[in-house]
Amino acid sequence: MGLLSEGSPLSWEETKDLADHVRRHGIKQFINLYHRLKTRTGDVLKWGDEVEYIIVKFDHDKKTAKASLRATDILPVLNEKEHNDPENVKSLWRPEYGAYMIEGTPGKPYGGLLAHYNVVEANMRLRREEVQQLLQPGEALMSLTSFPRLGCTNFTDPPSTVTPAEGTTRSLFFPDDCIYPGHPRFKTLTRNIRLRRGEKVAINLPIFKDSKTPSPYVEEFPQAPAGQPDATSAALPDHVYMDAMGFGMGCCCLQLTFQACNIDEARTLYDQLTPLCPIMLALTAASPIHRGHLTDVDCRWNVISGSVDCRTKEERGLEPLKNNKFVIPKSRYDSIDSYLSEQGEKYNDVPLIYDEAIYDELRKNDIDHLLAQHIAHLFIRDSVSLFSEKVHQNDEEDTDHFENIQSTNWQTMRFKPPPPNSSIGWRVEFRPCEVQITDFENAAIVCFVVLLTRVILSYRINLIIPISKVDENMKNAQKKDAVKTQKFWFRKDITTFSSPPACTACCQSSPDAKTDSLDCYTLMTVDEIINGKAGEFPGLIPLINSYLSGMDVDADTHCSIQQYLKLIQRRASGQLLTLAGWMRGFVRNHEDYKQDSLVSDLINYDLLMELNAIQSGEKACPELLGRSLQSRTQESIPTAVRKAAGEYT
Ligand code: ADP
Ligand code: MG
Ligand code: MG
Ligand code: MG
Ligand code: MG
Repeated sequence: MGLLSEGSPLSWEETKDLADHVRRHGIKQFINLYHRLKTRTGDVLKWGDEVEYIIVKFDHDKKTAKASLRATDILPVLNEKEHNDPENVKSLWRPEYGAYMIEGTPGKPYGGLLAHYNVVEANMRLRREEVQQLLQPGEALMSLTSFPRLGCTNFTDPPSTVTPAEGTTRSLFFPDDCIYPGHPRFKTLTRNIRLRRGEKVAINLPIFKDSKTPSPYVEEFPQAPAGQPDATSAALPDHVYMDAMGFGMGCCCLQLTFQACNIDEARTLYDQLTPLCPIMLALTAASPIHRGHLTDVDCRWNVISGSVDCRTKEERGLEPLKNNKFVIPKSRYDSIDSYLSEQGEKYNDVPLIYDEAIYDELRKNDIDHLLAQHIAHLFIRDSVSLFSEKVHQNDEEDTDHFENIQSTNWQTMRFKPPPPNSSIGWRVEFRPCEVQITDFENAAIVCFVVLLTRVILSYRINLIIPISKVDENMKNAQKKDAVKTQKFWFRKDITTFSSPPACTACCQSSPDAKTDSLDCYTLMTVDEIINGKAGEFPGLIPLINSYLSGMDVDADTHCSIQQYLKLIQRRASGQLLTLAGWMRGFVRNHEDYKQDSLVSDLINYDLLMELNAIQSGEKACPELLGRSLQSRTQESIPTAVRKAAGEYT
């Protein structure tokens, strides 16, 4: 979340009345920044990761593991170092939605040397140690996508209580005290999303039906306030019902940001990485348990999408349009709806919803069709968090109103313009991945994606398929065991960059192959996409290896990169389990599990203890990590390596 706008939040009524004001000035600000920065060029590759963590409190006597609401104690201490020495800190820490969460990034972005890939993991480890020092006995910092018993009775330490009839969330499960209290943004967003929608958010995930799960599975909610049928009416049978922003925004993820050399390269990377989003979601699947239930999905994506779905009934198409302008197919948290580059244009096959007046305004100001429709589409949303100090701005210089809308469109990819008065260039953020339990895995994912951007740019490969097919892939990516069971639309011939030849030959050769009037895409497994298919598809990792073979790299970095790529290859082939697969298996084999889909306090405790032992390296987990995979990560790039790369000449 773009943070740091401090101040006093306006009420929902005030915010709502200023919706057009924010949009009008946000668009002006974008136009100004665009013309100021459109010709900015020559920026070098810089990149960085963001990892979100949960603070867990174990009670070894009672055998419980709780979400520890201590971010407010820990963050100020972490931030002090940054405050005192912003240039030299090794890590930066930011609040996240949950009072039990924090987000860490490297102190400085990484650069273009291959040797940077070898410091990512060590920096992640350092960050973990930094927080660990501030923890109390029994506490652990865990990079866990979702806390398995989030929203179950007594899931926090200290205990907190739900207030279904009053307060910010009105959830039956998620107490307001679990929202990070140190910054007003989080509660304000929660309240405004609920008020804009006109009711609580509603998330229903299909339950995993085990042999003793009641059928239909219907829950009672004794905590629901009397006389308020709305409090439970959205709950569907055979589903795990969740009713709060915290179920989604209280999840953790792994994000990556890259700087491009100029705006065109940023548009290319934005487009080319889009088809990778569902593939990486399936490959990083790490959250099969929600609100103490095994579910039929392996990922957080639909939970978080539903958790901030501020659309009204009219906008969701449930009532005829009267007070609202548009029927909107997706939540403001979802996969992107349009490509931005010329190569992508013809694959924009989903009708884009936007305000004609905003689009026209952008076009009148010399912003091209693709960018104008992208921005106009983001701007169908209302502001859901506005601070009194920020209402009146200088549109020539400030970008807060633009960022207000931009940063609350939480999509798979984000196109990030340079911030005002900074040395930062045009950037692209890759946002679908679930966070993994070990630094090794997270570093592997980060390095894989960054390497892929290099391959995309160097080899000019083209991964673009119609947006509608990416949407379809996003749905399938979240299914249980998607890596092993699902096939995904993927571009068949990725080496033809533009105006590809007619593809009748390849399309006829396979029953899965489909052709649109433009190009060829086909159904592939994650294994085929990542590892290749003889004679048909080269595979992304073989392409990365081919790219690397022409590069000069020091031995340690080479070794680490190979270990990371092997992990990705083995996850893709199914030889190693996804974390979701491993967790599901752990629960189902636990002696306290009653084949009824329920994850008890004891199972939760044992599961998190086991994961904590794996993440700290105390315990091996060959099913997840292989037997011998290990990097040679280092805290800094050796001087000799820098010299060899010509950095100190
Ligand atoms: P947000 O939460 O808005 O996505 P953060 O500041 O939390 O933003 O994270 C931004 C990420 O971008 C971090 O990993 C950081 O290291 C990285 N980063 C910082 N500066 C640059 C830059 N110039 N180019 C690319 N990435 C950068
Ligand atoms: Mg975050
Ligand atoms: Mg961040
Ligand atoms: Mg963020
Ligand atoms: Mg981010």
